[in-house]
Amino acid sequence: MPQVLAYACDDATTRFHKTTIDLREPGPGEIYFDVKYAGICHSDIHTARGEWGPVAYPLVPGHEFVGVVARVGEGATRFAVGDRVGVGCMVGSCGQCEMCGAGYEQWCTGTPGTLWTYRADADGNPTTGGYSQGFTVSEDFACRIPDQIPFDAAAPLLCAGITMYSPLRRYGAGPGTRVAIVGMGGLGHVGVKLAAAMGAEVSVISHGRSKEADARRFGACAFHATSEDGTVEALRGSFDLIICTVSANNLDYEGLMGTLRPYGVFVDVGLPEEPVRLPLRAFVNGAKSFAGSQIGGIRQTQEMLDFCAAHGVAPQVEIIGGEDITGAYDRVVDSKVRYRYVIDTATF
Ligand code: NAP
Ligand code: ZN
Repeated sequence: MPQVLAYACDDATTRFHKTTIDLREPGPGEIYFDVKYAGICHSDIHTARGEWGPVAYPLVPGHEFVGVVARVGEGATRFAVGDRVGVGCMVGSCGQCEMCGAGYEQWCTGTPGTLWTYRADADGNPTTGGYSQGFTVSEDFACRIPDQIPFDAAAPLLCAGITMYSPLRRYGAGPGTRVAIVGMGGLGHVGVKLAAAMGAEVSVISHGRSKEADARRFGACAFHATSEDGTVEALRGSFDLIICTVSANNLDYEGLMGTLRPYGVFVDVGLPEEPVRLPLRAFVNGAKSFAGSQIGGIRQTQEMLDFCAAHGVAPQVEIIGGEDITGAYDRVVDSKVRYRYVIDTATF
């Protein structure tokens, strides 16, 4: 049984410490890989701090991580020892239902349903995530990391990348479409790069001015700060597609709906805790839609990785050590990260 070093927190104060965890040997159809880099997603923070409900501690989070295959279980054929692989938010699903068949494992309707990376296994036992030096997973839930993508920068693609890629594709981002990304953090900055690579005209709507030069470097052709009076009003009727990554509760959703052109779509991925109130005229006037989106299936995650390799898209990351995780959580919450922290597991 592989025993590896990992970083865990013991309660909602999220003070991380080094620990040792036991992982299972790869069984039939599974692989075991040495985790090299793990991104810190804001969802890890919401989860570890109990903001999305009770969790089992000690908790080893991490749902966007990459590594090198070290052992291959019986009958696993898709990967060989030495291959570069990545795992995202899911590690299992029934594989039989209509949703799994269509490549939407995140909507599995079978039993026990979608298995999330560090929530629980099929028997309800807590599992560990990517802030670890190793991971055992079904080969069907691992993706191949193309050589063109720097290994450390590849990690955030497994959650942030697919979360932005999926709605951009679903709603047709491309030449001739005007896309706005609201909130340029971990998800948002990858969204800007992806939408620009797809050929869309990209704008960033940020809550301040400080990220303007970076946004333009990532491919945005316009930058708007909601801290300045009249910003949202001046953008009325501007965008075909808005993808909103903000989880703060005070966002002006009605104003942002007004920045859509007729038939425009507003997609929320940011999951604010409080319910949002919107008058229906914000949709009816202009036949607009408000949608949600959650990650993407495994097939599309591989498609996104291949797209990034082909178009030179990679997240901008800050590499940190295991001892830095505790402080990094506060810096993400304060919007100080540029733009994703990635843990180097060699520092454990
Ligand atoms: P992040 O790096 O913290 O980025 C969030 C961005 O929101 C910040 O960079 C900031 O951008 C903006 N923001 C922060 N505080 C704000 C405030 N008070 N008012 C307005 N804007 C504010 O987080 P992330 O990792 O990108 O994740 C974003 C959200 O998506 C989280 O809630 C996460 O749980 C969720 N998520 C959802 C999915 C999904 O499948 N739907 C997947 C992953 C994550 P500016 O400085 O540009 O304003
Ligand atoms: Zn995430």
